[in-house]
Amino acid sequence: MKIFNTLLESIYQNKLVSSASIVRILEKDSEENLNAIFKYADKIKKLQLGEDIILRGIIEIGNVCDNGCFYCGLRKENKLIERYRLTEREIMKSAEEIKAAGINTVILQSGEEKYFNYKKISSIIKKIKNKHDITITLSLGEAGYDILKEWRECGADRYFLKIETTKKELFERIKPGKKLQKRLKCIDNLFRLGYEVGSGNIVGLPGQTIKDLAEDLIYFREKEFDMISISPLIIHPNTPFINVKKTNYRMSLKVLALARIITKNSNIPATTALETLDGNLRKKALKSGANVVMISFTPLKYKSKYEIYPDRCGGDKSAEYSIRKIAGIIKMK
Ligand code: SAH
Repeated sequence: MKIFNTLLESIYQNKLVSSASIVRILEKDSEENLNAIFKYADKIKKLQLGEDIILRGIIEIGNVCDNGCFYCGLRKENKLIERYRLTEREIMKSAEEIKAAGINTVILQSGEEKYFNYKKISSIIKKIKNKHDITITLSLGEAGYDILKEWRECGADRYFLKIETTKKELFERIKPGKKLQKRLKCIDNLFRLGYEVGSGNIVGLPGQTIKDLAEDLIYFREKEFDMISISPLIIHPNTPFINVKKTNYRMSLKVLALARIITKNSNIPATTALETLDGNLRKKALKSGANVVMISFTPLKYKSKYEIYPDRCGGDKSAEYSIRKIAGIIKMK
């Protein structure tokens, strides 16, 4: 156990962050080792960021998508969901509610539309910024340099674009028609334009190895992302992943804890995907390195239609309910 803690310590101290040393930790699966990783990550979180848990408000502004990502229920081939786009008025109302709840970041997320009206997003960014003193994060998928530049000039502060996996062959298999190189370039453009950038991966993709996860973590550290989101794969029945084996949540939590140890002070959410997989996992994540919770302020009538995966936790509940639930979890700590 002492040797194991020394390994964690050396990863934190930056002395020994090779992919092989991360693999050595991720391979460990005994209760004792798992607890040691989680405890150490919690210690680093408190040391770097204190006890605070940050709430962020997310508005899922539309579920129309032209992509065919194998993991995601919004993929264009899924004809079983009803598609929606929020109006500017609906988005402004949700932003108002976020501000009223005392939350200082609004995340605008949607499917990826090839020919969507990017001027509409520009107008919304300006309107929100004019009305509220609030940080705007965009999570709208890949976009070209000029569009990203325009949104930045309109006032967008952050951009959240998960790499999903840094393994080229896997990335291009699960995102048909997409190139890893292009996504990496998009992330680099975001940095160039002065965005604070968030990224992350999915744990449990078919064919993904522990070494792939270690390479993801090394990439997160190199880029010094503002936020890193680690989610377990949740199987959606209307996708090609219908027969994939259910994810072992322990691996997702280990990757999350290591992301904390390796990146030191990045913001790491306790994702809804974790909570969907197992009701206690959000609490566990908040005790193992996570420091952010995202609350959906999407109008209730649309919420369940944003079905990236089924039975999304809180998908039929109000933002107020979710905040109360989180408050309860924090008190239990
Ligand atoms: N269209 C945007 C936003 C996608 S939804 C984009 O591509 O960036 C946000 C995140 O949800 C994705 O980046 C992905 O990591 C996650 N996600 C989607 N489907 C999932 C699933 N079935 N299981 C786990 N995470 C999923």
